[in-house]
Amino acid sequence: MIVVISGPGGAGKGTIVERLLDADPRLWLSRSWTTRARRVGESEDAYHFVTRAEFEASIARGGFLEWAEFLGNLYGTPVLEAEPGRDVVLEIDVQGAEAVHRRSPDALLILVTAPSPDAQEARLRQRGDPEDVIRKRLAKAQLEADASRRLGAHEVVNDSLDRAVDEVLALLEHHRVLNPAQP
Ligand code: 5GP
Repeated sequence: MIVVISGPGGAGKGTIVERLLDADPRLWLSRSWTTRARRVGESEDAYHFVTRAEFEASIARGGFLEWAEFLGNLYGTPVLEAEPGRDVVLEIDVQGAEAVHRRSPDALLILVTAPSPDAQEARLRQRGDPEDVIRKRLAKAQLEADASRRLGAHEVVNDSLDRAVDEVLALLEHHRVLNPAQP
């Protein structure tokens, strides 16, 4: 099973994904590549951080399942290498979710949203991005949420972390029942 978690920056999807991985050992997180610079305090493992030339060379080799440009940086999901029997989690933007949906219509699509625009803005500010980047991310958030809903993603509002994680775990279980793994 492929689980795609999308949502605007500041919705808290990264924290939800961490909790899902702790709660369900069948899940395996794909680590994306990006040309974005690592943020101060961001884990070295958050992405495979590469130059634009390295990213473009990987595109040319057919190294990505999908890739997209987001506010001037490239982000991509490397061709999947999950262990058999594990479910792959992709934390990617809505363009990526569209690409995965086209290739794998059975993928479970989840849109994580913040409980309010103010809560989202407050979370974005905590990350220390420059003001122009915060503005661009906020402007993009509504468009991304609309596109994701059009794709038929299940929307999970991150009003309380425990509740949101439980809701996603329930969606996963339901999806597993409806789409049993092929032998
Ligand atoms: P950030 O710069 O906040 O880490 O990520 C910006 C956006 O790119 C987020 O919506 C994030 O989910 C998305 N993203 C991260 N990795 C990938 C990827 O591999 N493919 C796509 N399409 N989007 C990604």
